[in-house]
Amino acid sequence: MSDYRIETKCLHSGYTPKKGEPRMLPIYQSTTFKYDTTEEMGRLFDLKDNGYFYTRLQNPTNDCVAAKIADLEGGVAALLTSSGQAANFYAIFNICEAGDHVVASSTIYGGTFNLLSVTLKKLGIESTFVDPDASEEEISKAFRPNTKVMFGETIANPALVVLDIEKFARIAHAHQVPLIVDNTFATPVNCRPFEWGADIVTHSTTKYMDGHSTQVGGAIIDSGHFDWSAYGHKYHGLTEPDESYHGIVYTEAFGEAAYITKATSQLMRDLGSIPSPLNAFILNLGLESLPLRMERHCYNAQKVAEYLHAHEKVGTVNYAGLPDDKYHDLAMKYMPKGTCGVISFDLKGGREAAVRFMDSLKLATICTHVADAKTCVLHPASHTHRQMNDEQLAAAGVSPGMIRLSVGIENIDDILEDLEQALKNA
Ligand code: PLP
Repeated sequence: MSDYRIETKCLHSGYTPKKGEPRMLPIYQSTTFKYDTTEEMGRLFDLKDNGYFYTRLQNPTNDCVAAKIADLEGGVAALLTSSGQAANFYAIFNICEAGDHVVASSTIYGGTFNLLSVTLKKLGIESTFVDPDASEEEISKAFRPNTKVMFGETIANPALVVLDIEKFARIAHAHQVPLIVDNTFATPVNCRPFEWGADIVTHSTTKYMDGHSTQVGGAIIDSGHFDWSAYGHKYHGLTEPDESYHGIVYTEAFGEAAYITKATSQLMRDLGSIPSPLNAFILNLGLESLPLRMERHCYNAQKVAEYLHAHEKVGTVNYAGLPDDKYHDLAMKYMPKGTCGVISFDLKGGREAAVRFMDSLKLATICTHVADAKTCVLHPASHTHRQMNDEQLAAAGVSPGMIRLSVGIENIDDILEDLEQALKNA
């Protein structure tokens, strides 16, 4: 599929029916698969033959969708997980263990920040958070001899900071570690981080890839570019024998597919978190229309950002499509077709005005969700950051009047009219 353009890949990659087979990707809703001899199945358990035996490890529906996502990102292999959280956990835990260290952008999604600063810390993996806009010299100071990976988000949720991927990749590679980029908000339609030096990409497929609020899911994609064997004992989980598979060495046995094979055969085996085949099927439906939806999300969000920018009741508007946005130049470099549909803005009337505005909306719905076909809205001070007082909110970069607006794909005039009538009450 690799010669086709992304719109075509979104429809055709991952599954090519042969004569008489279903046109649509079938849902293999089966936990297990049948073999004729003991030896046949034994070879699967030794990773000597490729084949399906238990859906926690591999399933044909899931594999087709993973192959599609790998193709969209330009990677060599991918793994689906049951959530974006699981994807980021596995992506890091696949190459880090107790005693290791991670360098991450400080503006990443709160759930990932928690994963790193609380849960992985409990497992003995420490993290240092860096200002993604700092200089290479400044960021480099965060690295330690035991640093194993660097992490960032193409467009940070909800800060909407655009990552300088080339800069992060340069720093990571200078310190001989891979760069993982969470590409959830941009999607491969608008940005493919591997083209800028990232080594591994993750997704919360719950967001634009699905796009219809129907399944929670995640994905990990490997570029196949990082040379795990080049640094001696450093990535020993990949380069030295795995006793739980009779001494198999992933880099020797699977070459470019080593990282994803290890994540599947060790982490999925031991921790679970596989999506159901039905959810993979639903995700695939979403992927088919992803380019059309992203185009409309970006068109609508640009119009909304411009409208809000000019409105007397609105203070700051964060949207990289606006020429005076701090991240406009980086967005033009990495995402010339558009960034995403998520905007954050601040109402001059503060918390009370924000609440009046939210409660007056008729089309946009109040949801703890973003990146959906339907316009949705959230007031961080009342919702995700509710437990914080105004001082704590300021420290977290959230003003009491801030609104996070995920612009959907409805008719732009209907969205603007809804905002207009709600702003009258703000
Ligand atoms: N990464 C990003 C950028 C996100 O926005 C989210 C969720 O909002 C996640 C990861 C976690 O994904 P999930 O909710 O599918 O577990």
